[in-house]
Amino acid sequence: MCYAIPGKVIELKKNIAVIDYFGEKRNVLNEFLEIKVGDYVYAQGGILLNHVEQEKAEEILNFWEKRFFELKEVDKNLSSIEKVEASPNLLEILQKVNLNQELTTKDMQDILALTSNQELELLYKSANSIRQKEHDNACCVHGIIEFSNYCKENCFYCGIRKDKNITRYRMTVAEIITAAKKAVHDHGFKALVLQSGEDYDFDEEKLTTIVTEIRKLNVLIFLSLGQRSKHLYQKLYQAGARAALLRFETSNEQIFNEIRPGANLKDRIQLIKDIKEMGYVIATGFIMGLPKETSNDIINNILLTKSLGPDMHSFGPLIPTTGTPLETQNKPSKDLVLKTIALTRFIDRKSKILVTTALETLDKDARRQGLLAGANSLMINATPKHNAELYSIYDNKAGVTDNLQETIKDTVDLLYSIGRAPTDLGI
Ligand code: SF4
Repeated sequence: MCYAIPGKVIELKKNIAVIDYFGEKRNVLNEFLEIKVGDYVYAQGGILLNHVEQEKAEEILNFWEKRFFELKEVDKNLSSIEKVEASPNLLEILQKVNLNQELTTKDMQDILALTSNQELELLYKSANSIRQKEHDNACCVHGIIEFSNYCKENCFYCGIRKDKNITRYRMTVAEIITAAKKAVHDHGFKALVLQSGEDYDFDEEKLTTIVTEIRKLNVLIFLSLGQRSKHLYQKLYQAGARAALLRFETSNEQIFNEIRPGANLKDRIQLIKDIKEMGYVIATGFIMGLPKETSNDIINNILLTKSLGPDMHSFGPLIPTTGTPLETQNKPSKDLVLKTIALTRFIDRKSKILVTTALETLDKDARRQGLLAGANSLMINATPKHNAELYSIYDNKAGVTDNLQETIKDTVDLLYSIGRAPTDLGI
């Protein structure tokens, strides 16, 4: 099963290649390849990754061609809005959205306060419609390898915090590279997220080896290592990593200080800016449902994320985890998360929005619902099951599987059912 479609290079402009996907054009950054017009290539996250032989590319494109247009049709139908029954206030807000006008704080508060099922349905459809207009039916699917659950930090919400008594594991460098090869060769992933707690046993040398070896697989390497040094991120960029996931967690400094003892919000935000400055594609965002959080905090979180210029918004609900200081905290409702996805789509039309595993943990159907409320990115856990089970950042984490192929098939079936094609979104 292939779930990244090759494109044809139709134009080269310095380090930008224009790629054609069945008539749709995307700009991608080319730093790694010698290419010419007419070549077939794979791209992920707006970055050109590797050549595809013409014969192989044509075989894949033949498989996709009819399906590609059928999927677009399904997507268009699902994102079209027929009934528009809602309060005059909501209709006025949605009119502003359609005209691409800025929303006021009150508009945003009103969106987060919606409760009527009919209005929620209209809200999600409107966000899905903007997603369709801006991104068409493309959906990113990244693989994730959780390689260590050691962490030196003690975040109040986290199931692998330092003081929690759990079975710890570290995959060896060889095991991580083997898992990456399996994900790429056996399962066809084109982008891999390498995730761990803040584990300083993985020093510059080890991480550079890992990134250098995985880069040889021609995949987009996404780092999710926590608040490590700027120098380390620079070294790993030189080794071939091109994307980084680092959430600021909350824009509210007081809440941040309460739930991340000893950490500093300004330093964390500065690191996200520094990483972006280095040239990384960044994914960032926050946790929803922290103690004392208000709807204004959620709005500020979205606005802060947008101001950091992310390629992808990543936010999910707090899942209270046994044995952590926040074990009795209430989870945010699924609707609040979906409303936040929709509002994010209105505020930052061009960025990708991830459906997080935490949202999937909240509700089995949340993946589908998130994608239909404005989101357009997914992650699949490609960690060996015996390790993934121990990466217990919260209770009953979704997506842990001993049958990755089946999980991929379920994901692709879900995407087909709502008319999405797992193509790169370009830059
Ligand atoms: S949230 Fe991240 S930094 Fe904090 S304890 Fe968990 S793994 Fe460590």
